[in-house]
Amino acid sequence: MAIARPVRVLGLAAVMMWCFFLYQVFRPGANIKVPLGIPNNERDPLLDPTGEPEGILHRAGPGYAPDAAHSERINATLLALVRNSELPGMLQAMRDLERTWNHKFNYPWTFFNDEEFSDEFKKKTSEVTNAETRYEVIPREHWEVPSWINMDLFQESVKILEEHDIQYAGMMSYHQMCRWNSGLFYKHPALANTQFYWRVEPKVHFFCDIDYDVFRFMQDHNKTYGFTINLYDAPDSIPSLWPETTKFLSAHPSYLHENSAMNWLVDKARRPDHNYKANGYSTCHFWSNFEIADMSFWRSREYEDYFNHLDRAGGFFYERWGDAPVHSIALGLFEDRNRIHWFRDIGYQHIPFFNCPNSPKCKGCVTGRFTDGEAWLNKEDCRPNWFKFAHMD
Ligand code: GDP
Ligand code: MN
Repeated sequence: MAIARPVRVLGLAAVMMWCFFLYQVFRPGANIKVPLGIPNNERDPLLDPTGEPEGILHRAGPGYAPDAAHSERINATLLALVRNSELPGMLQAMRDLERTWNHKFNYPWTFFNDEEFSDEFKKKTSEVTNAETRYEVIPREHWEVPSWINMDLFQESVKILEEHDIQYAGMMSYHQMCRWNSGLFYKHPALANTQFYWRVEPKVHFFCDIDYDVFRFMQDHNKTYGFTINLYDAPDSIPSLWPETTKFLSAHPSYLHENSAMNWLVDKARRPDHNYKANGYSTCHFWSNFEIADMSFWRSREYEDYFNHLDRAGGFFYERWGDAPVHSIALGLFEDRNRIHWFRDIGYQHIPFFNCPNSPKCKGCVTGRFTDGEAWLNKEDCRPNWFKFAHMD
């Protein structure tokens, strides 16, 4: 049976369009052009060739052997809060960091848990590193819900948070974890004599060979805090965090650093709705599942007073304040912004976001890709805000 010519043409056109559509979706690198978080007129610096930071860097050598008599290591540790059940993810993260960095420098690992680590956890984690491993239980008074938290109010608050789709709203241990990471981890007796830490979570990935001692870098370059990824937070998880912060600042005006990143904290140009819902805070924060930092800052008078103020206000429980916005606001207010360093050269992933630089030292991630999740996640990238208001190194 003959098919009319117009119908044939239409059919052919439909097939061609379908092929073109499939090509657009599946062609290599289809969804990784320029990350949407970076507007077209601002180039993503991750696409530029990335080398090591400038200045003196300390390289691996005999002084970094695990049992070196005169160790070149400074006073620092890799640090992980983790559950026994997360052992496989922890081993994977450890293998990545040992392969790319720590087998050269052998910094100790310190693991924290709200209960005893199992023998299996201790055995397996100590097998994937030549460095010392330490296993610490969190003191009960650091983990338990503070006496001034009202459980009825907590339950009511959970309902409101859940109405706003706040993840983990009803999971008490998540609130406890955020509070511990905000203001308690560095008070653990096992860290009393430790100054720097690199926080590592189970299941994260590291992609790039790093050939210098990053802790020495922090110390030599007078850095307080190093990050890889900058994100917007869910404003409904922190509605009263900024109001409590401004209250605190009015009571302690001298705590504001003269070279603070205040403009970064209060920006409302890029995402006005976030600033509005968070009552004056942009919600832009350093994503704290990765942090390389100097605990002297958390141990300072300014931060201690700030944490105590927030802790009393109750938002770790009645809202779902994360340690990321709390750390970031404190750094943005009380620290010299030049002492905050973007580790652009450390390839990193915590699902669903990446820091993947353009460097031959990196394997396993796509240069410049910000997320491998859904496209809308690209708008959560707030690095451009940091680049705009603060220095990039
Ligand atoms: P997310 O990254 O915000 O989704 O939160 P995670 O579930 O990854 O938790 C953050 C970190 O805290 C991870 O290192 C977890 O292993 C750890 N963590 C969270 N809750 C607990 C807990 O109740 N006990 C212990 N020991 N670790 C926890
Ligand atoms: Mn995590």
